[in-house]
Amino acid sequence: MEWENNVRKVVPYVAGEQPNKPGIIKLNTNECPYPPAPGVQKLAAQMDCGALRLYPDPNTAPLVDALAEYYGVEPGQVFVGVGSDDVLAMAFMTFFNSSQPILFPDVTYSFYDVWAELFRIPYRTCALDHDWHIRPEDYRQPNGGVVFPNPNAPTGLAESLETVEEIIQANRDVVVIVDEAYVDFGGVSALSLLEKYENLLVVQTFSKSRSMAGLRVGFCIGSKKLIGYLNDVKFSFNSYTMNYPSQLLGVEAIRDDAYFKSVTSKIVDTRERVKRELTELGFVFPDSRANFIFASHKTVPGEKIFKALREADIYVRYWNKPRVDNSVRITIGTDQQMDRLIAFLKGFLAEAG
Ligand code: PMP
Repeated sequence: MEWENNVRKVVPYVAGEQPNKPGIIKLNTNECPYPPAPGVQKLAAQMDCGALRLYPDPNTAPLVDALAEYYGVEPGQVFVGVGSDDVLAMAFMTFFNSSQPILFPDVTYSFYDVWAELFRIPYRTCALDHDWHIRPEDYRQPNGGVVFPNPNAPTGLAESLETVEEIIQANRDVVVIVDEAYVDFGGVSALSLLEKYENLLVVQTFSKSRSMAGLRVGFCIGSKKLIGYLNDVKFSFNSYTMNYPSQLLGVEAIRDDAYFKSVTSKIVDTRERVKRELTELGFVFPDSRANFIFASHKTVPGEKIFKALREADIYVRYWNKPRVDNSVRITIGTDQQMDRLIAFLKGFLAEAG
């Protein structure tokens, strides 16, 4: 058909499954296994639905203000969106408009190449080293921008602040986006570098460490100049990206810092315990600082483990892609969920190995 010649054709990102099946153990999309802060739950129960008749605040001011106060920056340095996916997509659209390729790791969040294709941004991937670390020297070539997660996904490995700064320093003429979706589980944030680098954008999310994947709240912090350009694009696209309940509940989540800290430290404790148990079972993995572990087994193929777990109603993530096709990514759940995972693996490996 003639009209099809003018369709924007893209291969979409494939999100992890959200099976609607009672009793499953869901360790496939890095959600938080614990509920949102009590204040969020209370406010959600008391929400005035009459207010839903009105458009939400297009500037998301209360949430922007709460984030600015929490992170010690000016409100003009904060931008919020519908999950960090929305923030990242807006940032790609706003900042990556060069004819030079943008750079990101070969093993990384698999949405980056999808956005690059969608927005027709040329891109080049830089291979992680044998230990899954970013090689900062790769980011010294001419480029139209840089983006990488820290900690990286799906490896979980965190780079030091020195490595991050080395990359930014080598790229002062383009925008550098550091995707910190998992930073609250033991990574080091690049927020402290913002004073030095006007071209640095730090992206974070409420989906993992603040237990709010279902509300879709993400944000980024950068110089006022960067945030100004982002807002111009956002307001040229959709004035009301963030709905009213998400704006209100997001503020409540930020207020309860003690709850946030207890949830993240609980997940870190569980992660460290699971690392020891997986090692005993013959798994190897990069030393994750995120809320997941990217594990491969010394003798049993990743795909076989993924399928066996799935049959047992334990969902983890698997990619049939070069370099990563022998590993499964296991989200850290509750201690009880992880006990069931480990118990299953023990029995399965005794038979399969
Ligand atoms: N960045 C990375 C590295 C991720 O793994 C994810 C989760 N899929 C996101 C960003 C997006 O998360 P959200 O849109 O829920 O904030």
